[in-house]
Amino acid sequence: MTRRQHWTQEALVEGVRAGDRRALARAITLAEDSDPLAHGVLRALYPDTGRAHSVGVTGPPGVGKSTLVGALLAEIRGAGRTAGVISVDPSSPFSGGALLGDRIRLADHFLDPGVFIRSLGTRGHPGGLAEATLQAVLLLDASGKDVVFVETVGAGQGDVRIMGVADTVVLVLMPGSGDSIQALKAGIMEIPDLIVVNKMDHPGARTTVGEVRSVVSLDRRPGWRPPILLTDAVRGENVAELLSEIDRHRAHLEADGVLAERRGRRLAEEVVALATSRARRRLERAIAADTALRELLDAVARREVDPLSAVSELEAVTLGSGTEGVARPADTGGGARAVDADTPPSGGAAPQHEP
Ligand code: GDP
Repeated sequence: MTRRQHWTQEALVEGVRAGDRRALARAITLAEDSDPLAHGVLRALYPDTGRAHSVGVTGPPGVGKSTLVGALLAEIRGAGRTAGVISVDPSSPFSGGALLGDRIRLADHFLDPGVFIRSLGTRGHPGGLAEATLQAVLLLDASGKDVVFVETVGAGQGDVRIMGVADTVVLVLMPGSGDSIQALKAGIMEIPDLIVVNKMDHPGARTTVGEVRSVVSLDRRPGWRPPILLTDAVRGENVAELLSEIDRHRAHLEADGVLAERRGRRLAEEVVALATSRARRRLERAIAADTALRELLDAVARREVDPLSAVSELEAVTLGSGTEGVARPADTGGGARAVDADTPPSGGAAPQHEP
């Protein structure tokens, strides 16, 4: 078996469109690397996106998100639908399909051609993770997957950002997730579209549901009321119900005509957020590289330059032209550029899912 394969932009575009796993895997790796070729692929495929139902699954570590996604995949496949999973772990340096901890549960689905699973870690590009996630979700959408899950590890503050690409946001909690309930109550965490209290086999599950219900009832906005479900992801209990609630949410968005409006608003927010983090990274890089800028900051400290004058000077840096991640030779345009299919990821000790 030869693993060497050269991909042109056209081959990637056609491959992703046809749902080819290797093309998808390659395109996502290029996206992680902020490779201009990935941008070319996205540009070509973007008109094909918007068909998939994107479902964000978030919640604190260990509540059973991966197990639940695995159980949902079984239901989805049982119904003859296809799915993609992007599992995002901002705390992990691994990516490219690393099996993170118990996420081995998803392994049941690795050989199923109707399922594509991929982990994204920071891989030394912390700022780029949100961009890579958006691209990966859009690629899976363009590949024709019916449902695309974006699973994020986290307690729900900064990570909610990644939910910008989701039509439906599912918050997973378990008995004892008091901090998350407080975060919901305090408005630190946005009320999701569905709340799951997983590990219903653990004591206190019903108490947790009661606490969640009282927080959700404080939200007086009209429209969709987030259903609260008890599940046991290991035994698959209530997972079919969860899937039908997820489908019901999508149907609700479509029926009310909210889907297009919500997507438009969230995409716009996402674009602004991504541009903001590029500007921030540009500024941080400039300060690290430019002694004159560091001297400017020192001058503020010595009270020789006032803070707002320094801000104006720094602003000039962020407003400079240029594009993130294209500090590489040659842009794509044509697509004649070939990429080595089996270049190992940096620090690439991670096992690969893709065959
Ligand atoms: P994640 O970090 O939120 O993705 O959580 P995982 O899916 O990795 O699950 C963490 C642990 O909880 C694993 O050992 C799972 O087997 C276990 N787990 C997941 N769901 C359930 C459940 O419903 N009941 C019980 N008892 N254990 C569960």
